[in-house]
Amino acid sequence: MTTAALPSFIDPARIGPWGMFLEQLERVEPHLGPLAAWIDTLRHPKRCLIVDVPVRMDDGHIRHFEGFRVQHNLSRGPGKGGVRFHPDVTLSEVMALSAWMTVKNAAVNLPYGGAKGGVRVNPAELSMAELERLTRRYTSEIGSIIGPDRDIPAPDVNTNEQIMAWMMDTYSINQGSTQTGVVTGKPISMGGSLGRKDATGRGCYVVAREAMQRLGMPMEGARIAIQGFGNVGSAAARIFHDAGAKIVAIQDAAGTIANTNGINPHALLGFLNGNPRALLDYPEAEAIANADFWGVDCDLLLPAALENQITAANAGQVRAKLIVEGANGPTTPQAEDILNANGCTVLPDVLANAGGVTVSYFEWVQNASSFFWTEKDIHDRLDRVLTEAFQGIWDLAAARKVNLRTATYIMACSRVLEARALRGIYP
Ligand code: GLU
Repeated sequence: MTTAALPSFIDPARIGPWGMFLEQLERVEPHLGPLAAWIDTLRHPKRCLIVDVPVRMDDGHIRHFEGFRVQHNLSRGPGKGGVRFHPDVTLSEVMALSAWMTVKNAAVNLPYGGAKGGVRVNPAELSMAELERLTRRYTSEIGSIIGPDRDIPAPDVNTNEQIMAWMMDTYSINQGSTQTGVVTGKPISMGGSLGRKDATGRGCYVVAREAMQRLGMPMEGARIAIQGFGNVGSAAARIFHDAGAKIVAIQDAAGTIANTNGINPHALLGFLNGNPRALLDYPEAEAIANADFWGVDCDLLLPAALENQITAANAGQVRAKLIVEGANGPTTPQAEDILNANGCTVLPDVLANAGGVTVSYFEWVQNASSFFWTEKDIHDRLDRVLTEAFQGIWDLAAARKVNLRTATYIMACSRVLEARALRGIYP
């Protein structure tokens, strides 16, 4: 489904995340050789579960929320992928996010399929007790398809260690035994892994460092604009800053701030003190219009919020030479064409933000063996996994004369479809 092939009444900006994934598949298909015969398997999620999540609110009345868990593909191992709580969650979004997990896990060669979950809720409107009841009921509802050998959830947008603790506890109680390996991204005190919290941001840094070396961009003084100052964006900001780069703009739900001399992310985090709404009050930067964020003069742009942010409408404003997709699906295929034509390299989500699920894998392995690694072990292994994946994908892109997203899809889809072909169709 390239843009040209889309019926004229379909606005490409509105095809939705699943439509975007289908278009990405369309682009990789000609490069898959005989395995292309199996590609339809990726156009059909293996299993989509929609659940009703009734929650007794603090005032006694009952509200119903819609929950999802999609297992896109399980050819290479159990499902793996996060759970997001967001008012815009839809089945199309969770399907796309689960498919991107299939590609991501295969791109860095983790022994997992792809899955994702979500609840259509604005968690900011819930009390802590309501959030706990929502999480526990959702976990119980999807309990029949998750498990340490079936499908392993993890944090994503608006979910964190505490939510994982409730999920692990609920599943364990329903099973009758403590099952630490059912979720990753848990608190350290109950089987979580050192280094998991910052892993996605650290992974963004590792792949950016490798790309910058090859593009001749020095890290020292590199100007970085970051969209999203949550778990991924704030960790990446700290790690890039500590490596000598300069954070020149930050956009979050509260607005956008900029400073050409650089924003110290440690100081900003201290100032916010857990209250992201205070961003515009930060005295060491000036507030700018949200729409001006995309045109900020920078070397590297790191979208680390939600999908569908860089579109055909704003891609032409981007001045960065390198985009590192910390978020899932932030760039539409049409925007990527514009960026590439303007000489901008895009490190795709399925590689750039794979650090999180890679350390989730380390956590799952540690849970299975009840033997825990040092933080240095985690950092070293994460660096190695991502550097090797990056090198393979960079070389493949050069050999096939395709962009890095298509190269990542060639690498990942070949692995998934090879497993699919070997397993065959039952019965
Ligand atoms: N939610 C993260 C992602 O989109 C991490 C998933 C995981 O650790 O399973 O990659």
